[in-house]
Amino acid sequence: MSKQIVGVVGAGVMGIGVSQSLAQAGHRVLLLDLELDILRHAKEEITKNLRLQRMLHKAANQESIGEIIERITFTTDYEPFADADFVIENVVENWDVKKGIHNKLDSICPSRAVFAANTSAISITRIGSATRRPDRVLGMHFMNPVPMKPTVEVIRGYHTSEETLTIAQNLLASMGKKGVVVNDMPGFVSNRVLMLTVNEAVYLVQDQVASAEDVDEIFRSCFGHKMGPLETADLIGLDTILYSIEVLYESFNDSKYRPCPLLKKMVDAGLYGRKNGKGFYTYR
Ligand code: NAD
Repeated sequence: MSKQIVGVVGAGVMGIGVSQSLAQAGHRVLLLDLELDILRHAKEEITKNLRLQRMLHKAANQESIGEIIERITFTTDYEPFADADFVIENVVENWDVKKGIHNKLDSICPSRAVFAANTSAISITRIGSATRRPDRVLGMHFMNPVPMKPTVEVIRGYHTSEETLTIAQNLLASMGKKGVVVNDMPGFVSNRVLMLTVNEAVYLVQDQVASAEDVDEIFRSCFGHKMGPLETADLIGLDTILYSIEVLYESFNDSKYRPCPLLKKMVDAGLYGRKNGKGFYTYR
């Protein structure tokens, strides 16, 4: 695939990983967030991650970290998006915010540009409805940490065209990743199961059935999972978990998705997991 200009909206946990993977694949990246401080932090994180990757995998003919970073334009301005071939949106899991951004992208980006929403649970068909190009909108549910995860859940919205899916699969292939295509329904495949599991695991801690350590130990030792559900929740971000389970609750109107009060309390207390140092476990 020829090198593309890819806009990435949102420079949080996912936007950082997506931008790094795109730049390493040789694409030009426009990374946008609300504030320069957030973008500064994103640049530091990408540099740190690339250094770490270098230490762990010493491959021949590696480009310099500077060359990779140079492909990323860090911006708070949508103007450069007028040249984007593809946009991957990774903002907070909130319908109103995502709706506003897709609406704006639609008015600024060329009509050929494809929009991929990296969302945990929001319907892709609904996101497509915020644009005048729903056939060119799809879901790309990347896994965290993005540079280390080879598979992406690709979501076909009601109007998503085959051509759009092919363009997206080609972009993923250029990044060394494979997409598994599923049909649109809130939470898709992965998070309809994972969010319920995590939420129920939080209930176990709230109900004092077991400590977080013991819940995770059972999943690791008995089921052979690499990480338990509460370690996974800390990695994803407890705020993102809460917003996702709330989306599922509202989307299906089914009480099985009611968020655990302890999860709400932890988010209210500012315990977001790894990204700010404290969740079910303490980091740093
Ligand atoms: P995050 O909270 O780390 O980052 C979100 C970023 O969006 C922040 O930097 C914030 O400043 C930015 N943002 C908010 N409003 C904005 C706006 N109006 N314009 C531009 N930027 C804005 O969240 P995250 O974990 O990176 O998740 C991003 C999306 O990816 C969410 O929809 C989430 O559900 C999904 N997702 C997360 C994971 C995960 O493991 N964390 C995995 C797959 C998908």
